[in-house]
Amino acid sequence: MSGPLKPEDDVPASPMAEAEAAHPNLELIEGRRTQVGAMEVNRVLPRRARRTVGPWCFFDHMTPFTVSPENALEVGPHPHMGLQTVTWLISGEVVHRDSLGVEQSIKPGQLNLMTAGHGVAHAEQSPVKTVEKMHGVQMWVAQPDVTRNGVPRFEHHAELPLVSLANVDATVIVGEFEGEASPATSETDHVGVELNMRAGTSTVPLRRAFEHAFVVLEGTVRVGDQIVTPGNLAYVGSERDEIGMVAAEDARVLLIGGEPFTEPLLMWWNFVARSREEINAAHQDWESNGRRFGKVDSPLARIPSPRPQWLT
Ligand code: MN
Repeated sequence: MSGPLKPEDDVPASPMAEAEAAHPNLELIEGRRTQVGAMEVNRVLPRRARRTVGPWCFFDHMTPFTVSPENALEVGPHPHMGLQTVTWLISGEVVHRDSLGVEQSIKPGQLNLMTAGHGVAHAEQSPVKTVEKMHGVQMWVAQPDVTRNGVPRFEHHAELPLVSLANVDATVIVGEFEGEASPATSETDHVGVELNMRAGTSTVPLRRAFEHAFVVLEGTVRVGDQIVTPGNLAYVGSERDEIGMVAAEDARVLLIGGEPFTEPLLMWWNFVARSREEINAAHQDWESNGRRFGKVDSPLARIPSPRPQWLT
C-alpha cells in the first residue's frame, strides 16, 4: 500500500450514495419572480435549464393575493397561437372572455382550457366587487404540428375525475391518471394532476414513458433528502414507476408530465411558434387588429404586442 490517506479517501463511498449522486431524485430549478399586471407570479416554465416538460411549455404560479375593486386581477384582451391555456384556481374566481364569444367564470376545482390553434384572443379578470383571496396557476401546453394551425376552441369542465391514494386526493385536470381520464381535449400524450396531500408519505404513480415535474403550490414536500417549497420546478425525469413524497402537514402539488416534446419551439410573448417569420406575422396581425385573432367583448383595454427584438 502506498501513500497516506487523503481525508476524502477516509470514508469508503457506499454504492447507495454513488447511485444517488448519479441519479438525484429531483432536479430543482428556481422559478423567476415576475409581474403580470397587478399579479406577482413565479414563472417555473420555461427556464433556461428546462424549457419543457412533455408538451408543457409554460407554468406561472400566482402568488396568493387579495383581490378587491381597488386591486383586481385584470388582464386585458391579448392573443395566443399554437398552445392550449390551462387555467386552474386554488381560491378565488376569474371570468374568461374570448374572441369566440365565450364568457365563462371559473372557480377552484374547475378547468378552463382554451385551444388557440391559428389564433384566438381572450381577457381574464376577477369579478368586480369581490374581496377574496386569489390563488392559482396558468399553464400552457404546446400544440403539435398536426393541430397547431387549426381552429380555436374553448372548453370549461366544471367536474373532473378524482382519484384517492394513500394520503392523497388527486384531481385529474388533463390526461389520464390511475385509470381515470379527464374529459379535457388532449392533442398530445400528457397529464396534469393536482395532488392534495395529507401529512405523511404518499406514493404517486408515474408513467415510465413520460417525463414528469411537479410544483408545490402550498406547503412543503420532501423527496428523499430534497425539500421542495413553492416557487420552484422539481423535475423528476422519466423511466420511473412512482415517486415517494413526504408532507409534514397538508400540501398541494401540481404534477405535470408527458412524452418529451421533440418539435422545436420558438416562444415569444403570448405565441408558441416554430420560426421568427411566424412570430412576425402574428405580431403584425394583432397590431393591425385584423380578423385572425378576433375581438374580445371586454371592458378592459387591449394589450399591445411588443415589437419582436430581432426586428430592427
Ligand atoms: Mn392568456
